[in-house]
Amino acid sequence: MQETAPFAPNPSEFDLRTDVMRQFDLAAARISTQKPGQIKFLSYPKRTISLCFPVEMSDGTVRTFHGYRVVHNTAKGPGKGGIRFHPDVTMDDVIALATLMTWKCALIDVPFGGAKGGVVCDVKTLDTTELRRITRRFIHELGDNIGPHTDIPAPDMYTNEQTMAWVYDTYAQEHPGRNNLPVVTGKPIDMGGSLGRNEATGLGVFFAADRAVQLGMADGLTSLAGAAVAVQGFGNVATSAARSFQAAGARIVAVSDSQGGIYCESGLDLDDVAAFKREHGTVVGLPGTQSLASGEIVTVQCDLLVPAATSGEIHSGNAHDVKARLVVEGANGPVTAEADAMLAKQGVVVLPDILANAGGVCVSYYEWVQNNENEQWDLEDVNRKMRRKMERAVDTVLACQRRLNAEPDAPCPADLRLAAMVTAVERIAEITLKRGIWP
Ligand code: NAD
Repeated sequence: MQETAPFAPNPSEFDLRTDVMRQFDLAAARISTQKPGQIKFLSYPKRTISLCFPVEMSDGTVRTFHGYRVVHNTAKGPGKGGIRFHPDVTMDDVIALATLMTWKCALIDVPFGGAKGGVVCDVKTLDTTELRRITRRFIHELGDNIGPHTDIPAPDMYTNEQTMAWVYDTYAQEHPGRNNLPVVTGKPIDMGGSLGRNEATGLGVFFAADRAVQLGMADGLTSLAGAAVAVQGFGNVATSAARSFQAAGARIVAVSDSQGGIYCESGLDLDDVAAFKREHGTVVGLPGTQSLASGEIVTVQCDLLVPAATSGEIHSGNAHDVKARLVVEGANGPVTAEADAMLAKQGVVVLPDILANAGGVCVSYYEWVQNNENEQWDLEDVNRKMRRKMERAVDTVLACQRRLNAEPDAPCPADLRLAAMVTAVERIAEITLKRGIWP
């Protein structure tokens, strides 16, 4: 495989960092109680690390890998955020994703700041030994820049509980003689992982959507039972979201992966889809389904659309074809700013990423608490607590939206993304002032 240059511009026209900055600027303009200049600081990452390291491959050659770790803000607590393995990872993307984590942790109200990491690699071309060496060397190079009370990684795209087990083991090898379990979340259950963590992001997506529908936030949609749901992606977030919606009586009419998608109006059997994907490496071609071209899934007939794959998938070129009444962002940054405005005009409500996919970091926080106490909670307790937090966050964002729209001189109507951002940025700004600007 060709090595990707670490600072190559994002090949797609969509730039997540610009989008995240734009969201921040819109929110900052609606926050009145601020010390002059203070809010500006919140737009920058606190610490960025760019690394380069060699790994011996299984064929005996040595390859150079590039990795990043960013802590955006620590006003509320240590940095928290996933590690992504993807050929398109850039420093700008990692900064944007770390920034989103700050707002997400503030909104769901867990005592963490925002962080993110990534290694430029294509897991589909690497064997398990190579993945283990890449993970260990990356964590070794980060050294004490991660830690149970400084910066706590978790899984993200193309990393999983096995990756987190290697992260833990590497850190523990280098810090013997103490409880290192809280250094990373999303670990296997039998080595300190929390029950429910693996499914938490997708289940949280469902809890957020369910609350939004109960509160009448999506026009004409009164219940998820019988609703037609299209889920973009078929990874961790997508599959657990799809299964949660299906368990509530919804029909999953479409799913997709990086090679394309499948549609079935009467609803897909998710076990059949998973078995087919295991055997063929893609969902495309499952008998009894109609194949969809890459990206076509966002335009299928459905009540709810859950983009749960990657950023920038709903853009100005396809937003006008979105037929869903509610878009629930399982992925980070799946809807571009242009598409956001178009969807609002079409009357499509968007539950933004920092709200809708916060279930994962919420249960990561529960894992961290359990690790610090050397305890393991029951699954029912984990899910009940997470549901409560997700519902409270949805209620808070809706209340903020109403408040913003009642302001006499409001420059524009506030959507849920702006309301979520205002809520989160206000919380961080307030904490920062209470702590006081050092020294
Ligand atoms: P994953 O690696 O488990 O799955 C990614 C899936 O996306 C795969 O099925 C892949 O085939 C599919 N995919 C990739 N490109 C695609 C494309 N262009 N079209 C359709 N499908 C495509 O990753 P994940 O953990 O499920 O993460 C998915 C998204 O959710 C990411 O944006 C991630 O940042 C976000 N997220 C994840 C978590 C978490 O706890 N895992 C938490 C919050 C947000």
